[in-house]
Amino acid sequence: MKNSLNDILGQKRAVRLLKSVLDSGRVPPAFIFYGQDGVGKMTSAKRFAFSLSCQTKTGCGICEACKANEFGEGFRVIDISDYFENSVEKNKVSAFRKELNTHSHAHDLNYFVVSIDNSDLMNESMQASLLKSIEEPANGVCYILITKSIDALNATLRSRSVLVRFSPLNIDSLIILSEKILILLRKYYIKYKPTEWLFEGQTENGKVTQYSVRSLQMVLKQAVKKTNINKKVTMHTLRHSFATHLLENGTDLRYIQVLLGHQSSKTTEVYTHVTTKGFDKIKNPLDDLDI
Ligand SMILES: [Zn+2]
Repeated sequence: MKNSLNDILGQKRAVRLLKSVLDSGRVPPAFIFYGQDGVGKMTSAKRFAFSLSCQTKTGCGICEACKANEFGEGFRVIDISDYFENSVEKNKVSAFRKELNTHSHAHDLNYFVVSIDNSDLMNESMQASLLKSIEEPANGVCYILITKSIDALNATLRSRSVLVRFSPLNIDSLIILSEKILILLRKYYIKYKPTEWLFEGQTENGKVTQYSVRSLQMVLKQAVKKTNINKKVTMHTLRHSFATHLLENGTDLRYIQVLLGHQSSKTTEVYTHVTTKGFDKIKNPLDDLDI
């Protein structure tokens, strides 16, 4: 689903909390989404806004409310860093107050979410203005403060908000992309034009599904059949081979540890049965394939 909280990666706890709010139907006047940059805080805020107004509370993308949300009817972003570009202290606060007032009621939808990005940049007066809006909540308006450092927000503001922590992303989900594979991926993309997922499975009831683990296993099985490899090969073998090839190419064990998402170097050391050579350049081993 286009704007579903279900598709937020690596933030199970935050998503569970937001969904429980959706289920309860009791929407607090303010949230604080805090955590490192690039972990999905703003995306989650937007999807939460879609889900709030959505007729099925899922961000389905097809109901009237979701369509209205596509046009920005129920979600607005105020970026505090915009106020610090060139305006003087006094104007900054009054401009912010004015902007808050323009979002003081839900328009066509039942809910209106105002997301405040870089909210830690707010000075005391700005925080006080926002606190006033939160304490006298307008009908259907909900504020989501987005910040890296929750400590920069004053205690009253924090106590009036539901705190939602976003964890750092598991490094396991990041990987170096082979240059050769990128060329293939581009060709693939142009030919198949996937819409929701990069690799899409069967279309069920007019909806595109994610490529299944089972299908991947079948593809691997067939590929192994075409080679003369008789050993048992699983998806995990690919990961092991990736690490072993990197090591054989002389990649430092510490880099491999990060790429594999191992917390302890002990786990990575199982690969040291292969001699390390002195190369210092990481290259994706797939680039050595003649494809
Ligand atoms: Zn919907």
